[in-house]
Amino acid sequence: PTVGVPRESNEGERRVALVPKIVAALTGKGVDVVVESGAGLGALIPDELYVGAGAKIGDPWSADVIVKVAPPSDEEVGRLHAGQTLIGFLAPRNQDNQVAALKSAGVAAFAVEAIPRISRAQVMDALSSQANVAGYKAVLLAASESTRFFPMLTTAAGTVKPATVLVLGVGVAGLQALATAKRLGGRATGYDVRPEVADQVRSVGAQWLDLGIDAAGEGGYARELTEQERAQQQQALEDAIKGFDVVITTALVPGRPAPRLVTAAAVEGMKPGSVVVDLAGETGGNCELTEPGQTVVKHGVTICSPLNLPASMPEHASELYSKNISALLELMLVEGRLAPDFSDEVLAASCVTREEGVS
Ligand code: NAD
Repeated sequence: PTVGVPRESNEGERRVALVPKIVAALTGKGVDVVVESGAGLGALIPDELYVGAGAKIGDPWSADVIVKVAPPSDEEVGRLHAGQTLIGFLAPRNQDNQVAALKSAGVAAFAVEAIPRISRAQVMDALSSQANVAGYKAVLLAASESTRFFPMLTTAAGTVKPATVLVLGVGVAGLQALATAKRLGGRATGYDVRPEVADQVRSVGAQWLDLGIDAAGEGGYARELTEQERAQQQQALEDAIKGFDVVITTALVPGRPAPRLVTAAAVEGMKPGSVVVDLAGETGGNCELTEPGQTVVKHGVTICSPLNLPASMPEHASELYSKNISALLELMLVEGRLAPDFSDEVLAASCVTREEGVS
């Protein structure tokens, strides 16, 4: 089959779905790759490197399989035709119209965010690879916005205490944030509603904050809290948050608005000069005072809610994503032909629509 790599059109998107190293591996397996001119530029990859890896520069939209990072625009969906396959972040829960448009166009579409979190699919897990980037970058952002050091310093001019960092929501991004805060010399504490996370938090050298709420849901995700649990959690966190220089929030519940963990009162209780980095801005934010996409100062506390942090590290984010995409693609190839087995758990779960009549 031919695989097309378009230039991403979303504002601020600097990632690309395939990097040259992975293109070379695919072309070595008999896959033809067509890259749109300039597709790699955001990630500092010139066309020549793709050509050197065996790709052609041309129109990616007529390929058998189109691989993307961000969900396609309506205009891009309009370029697709029956029999083609699309792979990428498709945000299927929020984009019913788009899934319907792909379906009526006869396109087989695979949403990487719907890949099950099972061991066999770890190599394809784009949510995880990109969450690692976001968790890491969130800490760097917090450190640069902070008026204080992260590490403890003992100098002739005096001693500086290490920063205390609280991470709320310890999935993949949260765990990476804890590890990164530790590497910078901060004192890290993690909190989640899934008690099984406690050991992972300790394994990166952070402390576990136990508030006695167990809301483990299905598939390793959290469930939404009841009204009463939410009030209890907000109150307990309000008390805990006072003592921290930095709060990084990553809490998500699939298909639901982000849980409100940090109230306005909790922000007010923090020392001026402290920082909140809210990674849940896309679904409304974990902090009551978050303005998605903005950095604001409230009660002397800087609250940042960066959107699409992975795009701010396009080189490694693309490299990891590219590996995820090629692993999924390889799962669909049988003796060099595109023949997805829809009884495979990973393909069945990630396929959001497909050509009628294909089994
Ligand atoms: P996520 O992005 O959906 O959510 C981030 C975290 O927020 C989760 O840990 C969740 O429990 C937490 N959260 C939700 N509501 C909360 C609340 N009210 N208060 C505090 N915390 C709250 O999570 P994710 O990073 O996608 O990870 C989800 C799960 O998938 C985890 O169990 C992770 O270990 C697992 N996982 C498994 C694999 C694999 O085995 N292949 C790969 C990656 C992740």
